Amino acid sequence: MRAAVFYGPGDVRIEEVDVPRPGPGEVVVKNIVALTCGTDLKMFIRGHPYAKPPVIMGHEFTGVVVEVGEGVDWVKPGDKVVSVNSAPCGHCIYCKLGKFNLCENLGETIIGFTVDGAYAEYLKLPQRIVTFNLYHLPKGVEPEEAALLEPFACVVRGQRQINIDVGDTVAIIGAGPIGLMHMLLARHSGAGKVIMLDISWDRLRFAEELGADVVANSGEEDAEARVKEESGGIGADVVIEAVGRPETWEQTLKLVRKGGTILLFGGPPKGTQASFDTYMTHYGELTIQGSFHHTPQDVVRTLRLIQSKKLPLRKLITNRARLEDLVSVFERLKQGKEIKVAITF
Ligand SMILES: [Zn+2]
Ligand SMILES: [Zn+2]
Repeated sequence: MRAAVFYGPGDVRIEEVDVPRPGPGEVVVKNIVALTCGTDLKMFIRGHPYAKPPVIMGHEFTGVVVEVGEGVDWVKPGDKVVSVNSAPCGHCIYCKLGKFNLCENLGETIIGFTVDGAYAEYLKLPQRIVTFNLYHLPKGVEPEEAALLEPFACVVRGQRQINIDVGDTVAIIGAGPIGLMHMLLARHSGAGKVIMLDISWDRLRFAEELGADVVANSGEEDAEARVKEESGGIGADVVIEAVGRPETWEQTLKLVRKGGTILLFGGPPKGTQASFDTYMTHYGELTIQGSFHHTPQDVVRTLRLIQSKKLPLRKLITNRARLEDLVSVFERLKQGKEIKVAITF
């Protein structure tokens, strides 16, 4: 089969490799579609701490079951299925505490990072993922929409942590795929006004088309002044950081109102620090919430939301391409020309 194998930063090769066979508890699917993700792009440019090259990249997919391993009886060849890229181990202390997203062994089986991924004709799903996070494609859901399950589950987890209230003004830093999903979900949750901040006009224009109430280029104007102006002079009720840089983490405190909530969603590089205003945090009674990954509960709720068709998630897929063209797709993503691209085989 053909597969896009990651060897190191800037080095992804389309190669002929063996079709995987399932071991006990595992499932092999033929991929229908795989979506590009910001993390793939990051990995292509500078590698990824979890990546174990050589490894087939890609982790957002929908496929058809072709073979099941011993003990798997609830999916069968021919079933269309979707899953996320990882699953908790079930036995570490964090799993026992019910903090499945913080599982200490999450890194052992991450599709597209530590085990072979979805930029290939076939994909083997590890037992853990089959057990916790594999679903039949719901009726009426297109494979492309379902493939958004993993990134959207992360977004759903983030917002489940903060509970956006009806009428809230929500400022989102970063209008990439994740920031846009936060925007769609915040609107769906009843936000009165969603303000998108970014430094790329391409992304901001796209955010506007997708329903942002206000867009502001923080490279060109004072974001703090703009958010105040758009929120009756007090700052946003909720600020979501979807970039993952210490500078934008720090910026959140300048955008939030007293008593407001900050969701630090973007993951900054290891070893970085951010400082914050202690006075505002205390006397302004801020809630500052981190969020990482997703739990099986987030995933099931996300799939229901995708099935409901209440959010125009499919619009996030701005182009389609063949596996052979993956490297040029990464270039287009790097230039900010696409949000997500659907790869077919
Ligand atoms: Zn992803
Ligand atoms: Zn665990």
